[in-house]
Amino acid sequence: MIGRSNYPLRKSLDEDMGNIVINELVRHGVKLQLNERIIEIDYQGGKQIVITDGGRYVVDAVVLATGIKPNVELAKQLDLRIGETGAVWVDNRMRTSIENVYAAGDVAETKNLITGEPYWHPPFGTTANKMGGFVAGSNIAGKPMAFPGVVGTSMTRFMNLYIASTGLTTQEAIRHGFKARSAAITARTKARYYPGGGYVTIKLIIDESSMRILGAQVLGDDGSYVLGKIDTLAALMAKGGNR
Ligand SMILES: Cc1cc2nc3c(=O)[nH]c(=O)nc-3n(C[C@H](O)[C@H](O)[C@H](O)COP(=O)(O)OP(=O)(O)OC[C@H]3O[C@@H](n4cnc5c(N)ncnc54)[C@H](O)[C@@H]3O)c2cc1C
Repeated sequence: MIGRSNYPLRKSLDEDMGNIVINELVRHGVKLQLNERIIEIDYQGGKQIVITDGGRYVVDAVVLATGIKPNVELAKQLDLRIGETGAVWVDNRMRTSIENVYAAGDVAETKNLITGEPYWHPPFGTTANKMGGFVAGSNIAGKPMAFPGVVGTSMTRFMNLYIASTGLTTQEAIRHGFKARSAAITARTKARYYPGGGYVTIKLIIDESSMRILGAQVLGDDGSYVLGKIDTLAALMAKGGNR
């Protein structure tokens, strides 16, 4: 796995939490080439060759996962306002800059409830569903409804490690001018005497001035435990996240 950052999932995790992912990747035999930028992918003598600024790798197959961006071609043809994130600008009722034209889902911008700023990452089906089916649909049908925004929650998995995050990373929080402080703990998910359970690492990022939770990262081998924690924290943060 070749990546230009020094750890995976940089947009969702702090470095210490990303290192847990690295350990799991390495434990399962994944060879990591981090801090390397891909320059060229070549095909010579029936072999794929990946050339980076750090080396040359002969591989069996290449899977490109270099990110996504909204396709706003149609919106541009209509002369719709494009927001600062590169997605279609909409208000909280999914109305675009042209009357009677609505946009929702992956193509549309929303608001980050932590920073209050326009936001586009991550584009998800759950968000698209609410923006389109509920909010845009209701407004088009004449029943006013608003989409408040998102805190940016996602969950994924590598082998036995469930990886969930919501809100801002520490770096993002600092970049947005918050007085960010963080703490992480690793603990068992069930009492020692109780059968089953696993381990979980939870990291919270707060704003020291307001004591508001700005971000949370939860990694562990018990999927439903990780999901329960991140869901609760995301709901709390969406409502303000104050202690
Ligand atoms: C591999 C993968 C895994 C994913 N996993 C998850 C997940 O686990 N959880 C989650 O929440 N989300 C997931 N997503 C994201 C989710 O699929 C999208 O966020 C969601 O489908 C967005 O819905 P949408 O209606 O905005 O866009 P789309 O589903 O992309 O629908 C847009 C439609 O517009 C059509 N279209 C485009 N241009 C034109 C045109 N000019 N004229 C007419 N029609 C046009 C397209 O053909 C398409 O049917 C995943 C996405 C991928 C690719």
